[in-house]
Amino acid sequence: MGKDIPLGRIFGIKLGMDVTVFLFAAFISVTLATAQLPGLSRGHEEYAYWIAGIGGALFLFLSLLVHEIGHALVAQDEGIGVESMGLTLLGGVTRMESSPTTPGAEFRVSVVGPIASAACGVVFLVGAFLLPDSGTWDLVGALFFWAGYVNIFLAVLNMVPAAPLDGGKVLSSIIWRATNSQATAMLWSGAAGIVAGMALATWGLRNLSRGGATFGWFNVIVGFFVAWSAFQQVRSAPLYKALEGLSVTDAMAAGPPTAASWSTVGEFLRTSFPRPEHQAYPVVGPDGQVSGLLTAAAIRAVPPESWDQLPVAALAYPLDRVTLVAADEQLIPALQKVEGADVRHAMVTAPDGRIIGTLDPSALDRAVHARRQHPTPV
Ligand SMILES: [Zn+2]
Repeated sequence: MGKDIPLGRIFGIKLGMDVTVFLFAAFISVTLATAQLPGLSRGHEEYAYWIAGIGGALFLFLSLLVHEIGHALVAQDEGIGVESMGLTLLGGVTRMESSPTTPGAEFRVSVVGPIASAACGVVFLVGAFLLPDSGTWDLVGALFFWAGYVNIFLAVLNMVPAAPLDGGKVLSSIIWRATNSQATAMLWSGAAGIVAGMALATWGLRNLSRGGATFGWFNVIVGFFVAWSAFQQVRSAPLYKALEGLSVTDAMAAGPPTAASWSTVGEFLRTSFPRPEHQAYPVVGPDGQVSGLLTAAAIRAVPPESWDQLPVAALAYPLDRVTLVAADEQLIPALQKVEGADVRHAMVTAPDGRIIGTLDPSALDRAVHARRQHPTPV
């Protein structure tokens, strides 16, 4: 998203908030203060309802955060890097560097979110029953009851077996385990997502026609969002089918020419004659160690007249900005890592640590082509 308002870090993970969250929070606060809380707990001052309404919006966003922290911590536990967590108009989002590589990991990363929501719901509901039923405590209790109810609702909604909801990913992981094919799982959980999304939108439209404006619109928007995301997933299933079972080795540009860090770009081009399939070149320092990566795109971005004055080291990306992927890694998650990185070329390492190739998004064409030449039975 990029335009997230930064909110610091939790468990070392960057946390941000979309500006639209203020709109959502205002809507929740107004609804709570003017309609729901006065119905649940009578006889308080108007300002008390407003404070409780704002508190309710905070409770809701804290619970959404607990849900996302659940996803993020389990993902990290499964060895998946987590870029950031964010709050948006449609709830929370955890941005991972790549998707889970096994059905078991997909199941655990997905199911923990609804479990976290349900746990928040239980905590709030228990709080509501423990708080005294008199005076201001009664209003606080009403707030806890509302927050508990909403969290249980979120846990149930998220377990609807429709992509891209958590339940859709859980369904996908089960089909994946049963058929041993992620592409098949994406196809069926996507289809379920389209059906569920359209059903939700239709229900919302019926609500609207009966005058239930607010929740009608909410269901229409969420319904179309779910159906559209699920449709995208169904569309990408054939590509997954083509890449399934391939490793980084099948798609990398093997044996790229290396560039000496102390030579100029001009010298490198004259002595190495890089072939078109090589779009990135590991840079080797005087000690023989790889110290960075020079890309063809970076070379093209400076005028050819300056190539003979420009040292390779000045134009190359330093090692800490370059993604490393292992040669035997599965291709799909490796490509996801490269797509998400700011340098869209990765270096491929052999088990002994040597750099044996580079990987970039154009590898997709190579991989699909390789698959055509070496078909595997399905
Ligand atoms: Zn979730």
